[in-house]
Amino acid sequence: MNCSCGAAPVVALKVRLSRDELPCAKCGGQIVIDKMKAPREAMHALRRWVDEAFAIETLWFASGDYADWAKAELDNPKSKIVKLGLEVAKKVPNAWLIWETHAGARQAVDKYLDHCPICRDPSEPTGLQPAFGLGCAKCRVAGSAV
Ligand SMILES: [Zn+2]
Ligand SMILES: [Zn+2]
Repeated sequence: MNCSCGAAPVVALKVRLSRDELPCAKCGGQIVIDKMKAPREAMHALRRWVDEAFAIETLWFASGDYADWAKAELDNPKSKIVKLGLEVAKKVPNAWLIWETHAGARQAVDKYLDHCPICRDPSEPTGLQPAFGLGCAKCRVAGSAV
């Protein structure tokens, strides 16, 4: 299903099986990255985040020699990939970095986001889909409300 929000989608920065799409946190549909409207520099940073996050998730999922390193990058609020994601979430209009925890057995868990992983403040309702229903508007981080 494609995003039905027209000119005002809510971009969820979350790795998918495809590097060409991101989920819309408002309607739950898919946003085609090539059709997004944002300043050139923001789109450039977005593409870089998608490519790098996808590569690191792939290393984690492969459970090989780099899996522990990849998990540490993905779950560390201070890692380069998380910092880039936070930057993109502020540059692209209506974007949120989606926080997940990379558990064992190749599972990314949508953990109930009771506090912001970046500033540690309590999270607040975002009004978006339940998987992105709690977040920190200041840091532009959202996570599961269920
Ligand atoms: Zn939408
Ligand atoms: Zn925060």
